[in-house]
Amino acid sequence: MEINPVKGTHDLYLEDAMLYSDTYRAFSITASMYGYHEIETPIIEHTNLFARSAGEDSDIVTKEMYTFLDKGGRSLTLRPEMTAGVLRSIVSNKLYVEKEMPIRYFYYGPCFRYERPQVGRYREFHQFGVETLGVNSPYNDAEVILMAYEMLKSVKLNNVKIKINSLGGEEARKNYREALKEYFKESIANMCLDCQRRYEMNPLRILDCKVPEDRPIIDKAPTITDFLSEEDKKHLDKVREILEDNGVDTVIDTSLVRGLDYYTGVVFEFESMYEEAPDYGALGGGGHYAKLLSELGGPDFEGVGFSFGMERLISLYKIVNKDNLLIDSTYDFYILSLDEEQVDANFTLAAALRRQGFRVGLNYELKSMKALLKYASRIEAKYVIIMGEDEIANNVMRIKNMGSGEQLDYAINEDLPMKLQELMEEYYESHYSDKKENSEEEIESKEIN
Ligand code: AMP
Repeated sequence: MEINPVKGTHDLYLEDAMLYSDTYRAFSITASMYGYHEIETPIIEHTNLFARSAGEDSDIVTKEMYTFLDKGGRSLTLRPEMTAGVLRSIVSNKLYVEKEMPIRYFYYGPCFRYERPQVGRYREFHQFGVETLGVNSPYNDAEVILMAYEMLKSVKLNNVKIKINSLGGEEARKNYREALKEYFKESIANMCLDCQRRYEMNPLRILDCKVPEDRPIIDKAPTITDFLSEEDKKHLDKVREILEDNGVDTVIDTSLVRGLDYYTGVVFEFESMYEEAPDYGALGGGGHYAKLLSELGGPDFEGVGFSFGMERLISLYKIVNKDNLLIDSTYDFYILSLDEEQVDANFTLAAALRRQGFRVGLNYELKSMKALLKYASRIEAKYVIIMGEDEIANNVMRIKNMGSGEQLDYAINEDLPMKLQELMEEYYESHYSDKKENSEEEIESKEIN
């Protein structure tokens, strides 16, 4: 009986698996340029960690968590996001001692939310993100946003709108909450059940509601801006000014509240501006939090962080680059053997070529030359190596270019590794320019039409 994958999960293989690891690598390099170190925390945590950090009444905690009792009767939860676990780890391991200041970590891994699966929304998804604690400065907030932008640039996905807002300090939020309660008092009975619950628990959440019938009322609600202190406003302006001076534009969005309760001060979100990509929500986002570390038992350090949704970034990448997506997963060289003796010699040759950095495959089951060539062509090997009796006698290696069909003999001497390298360069040049020409032709024909 075939067992299906769990709804809302997806397998990663070949092209996708490579895109994930390449993106992870590119982001980690950028993060390390800013002095961040990698941290990996468990996927399961005690349930109350998330209840305390994301907020008892947040959608994540009330509806979306995968929570279960383990055999010892403990309530555990598959992490719905990474910040809480990272901060818990900073406290558990006392990573806040002075010599570690400032605290700067990046992370990557799966998160789980029981949401309705749809485009860009999964039940298991991956986040890459960072947290920095212990430095309070608009420069630090700006630096985190700049770093996120540089990450998007490193994978050529920086055609984004950066929405920014301030949620203010405690006083501003308290006054704003009261103003929202007053504003929604009349209409709340006619709004959705979620909004009615949010009205009681945390009226700020109502602003997140996606129910179309509720939107007209919500759109006219007071905004946080009117409740911000002069200091909050100055901080937000300064962050925007620093970013602008460094070539990064931001757009104020007073409705941006983010889905997690721990944010205070500056919050931000990245939205795709690529016309060819459907709108599937934010690519990532984050913000400043004042009390999260102390609430989890650590010192009173403020922090700032963000996370990207990798599924959304990768599918955007595939749409934007569909004409010149160069995913190199094929063998550089496939060595053909026609008898046991050749298999034995080619086994050693393959290991030597791999040591030189080439991706190499070879056949162990004996088949005809025709069948082997057909197989090499089907798996899209770039070149085929033939080491028959004649080649061995003449101390040469016969190499067939599987694209052009051209076949040449190469002397086996100290120049051979360089010659093989040149063959690879030739392959990439012709392969890549083909793809580029195709996409240029397509653009031209689009323009003509
Ligand atoms: P959040 O932790 O809610 O601030 O989300 C950060 C980012 O994770 C979002 O901007 C999305 O890109 C991504 N994300 C959140 N939930 C999901 C989901 N269910 N499926 C895929 N990506 C998600």
